Amino acid sequence: MVIVMKPEATEEQLKEVISKIEELGYKPHVIYGTTRNVIGAVGDERGKFILQSLESLDGVEAVIPILKPYKLASKEVKKEKTVIKVGDVSIGGKEVVIIAGPCAVENEAQIINTAKTVKLMGAHILRGGAYKPRTSPYSFQGLGKEGLELLKKAGEIARMPVVTEVVNPEHVDLVCEYADILQIGTRNAQNFELLKRVGQVQKPVILKRGMSMTIKEWLMSAEYILSEGNRNVILCERGIRTFETATRNTLDLSAIAVLKEETHLPVIVDPSHATGYAKYVPSMAYAAVAAGADGLMIEVHPQPEKAFSDGPQSLNFSSFGRLVENLKLFTSVVEKI
Ligand code: PEP
Ligand code: MN
Repeated sequence: MVIVMKPEATEEQLKEVISKIEELGYKPHVIYGTTRNVIGAVGDERGKFILQSLESLDGVEAVIPILKPYKLASKEVKKEKTVIKVGDVSIGGKEVVIIAGPCAVENEAQIINTAKTVKLMGAHILRGGAYKPRTSPYSFQGLGKEGLELLKKAGEIARMPVVTEVVNPEHVDLVCEYADILQIGTRNAQNFELLKRVGQVQKPVILKRGMSMTIKEWLMSAEYILSEGNRNVILCERGIRTFETATRNTLDLSAIAVLKEETHLPVIVDPSHATGYAKYVPSMAYAAVAAGADGLMIEVHPQPEKAFSDGPQSLNFSSFGRLVENLKLFTSVVEKI
């Protein structure tokens, strides 16, 4: 249920509503708006109509059921777009945010060189995996804690926030010590224990779409994070499994249009994992921006042919530089629409 407060409702009246929601066994999530505040009351769906009684409290304008199964992620609860601030970078704002870096942190020179170069070329956030969820147990699994240390160091040198994947609920606190943004990968997008755990911290979370997930299921995964109290969720479309084999996955750009209707959360696109081939990355990056993506996540490696993982889809520095330059043509047009 959404409890809509009157524009003139006082802080005291808001507090009273919050405690009544808790008394009834529901969890209140206050969303502070510019003209009025609303409270999302989430919990057991079966008895939710008991919350209707809150309508008689002072300061309450209306109590409205949320029809969507995802509550806090839905626009029914919050109409304004969520803008997530990480350092000087705003995700979900006017600017298209570029996240760039290697699939995996491999060594100090690789990550520092990449950080400095992509920053110079216009990237806003540095990426790099320290814990890699690989399809084969024999593939490079990442440098673990050492990878986190190197990523953080590279981010500090290049003055960029950093994002890295967390694959295990037990690693969440450790990863939070080093990363500015946590990433949940496609293979863990329905690992509900992990989702709940990252919901209990306040670092922003990039939630990748599960490779076989519907948009609704994806938003339900976001709901797991939001309902634990972490409001800073960024959705990342990274391609889904289809019958097509010419690309690694199929980039579902229509998901951006659907998500813009359904949710207030920022949506970014990863054309690297979506296509699997460096040569297809730029055109899909431009298309994503034209479709309204709030940002891009792009794999960049100093020597893609020598990368420990995902070399074929990684851009080298000069291709990345060209992509960023060309992207400006698209961002300038999109802003005018
Ligand atoms: C990644 O971004 O490094 C990654 C493993 O991506 P995905 O989970 O989308 O495959
Ligand atoms: Mn990768």
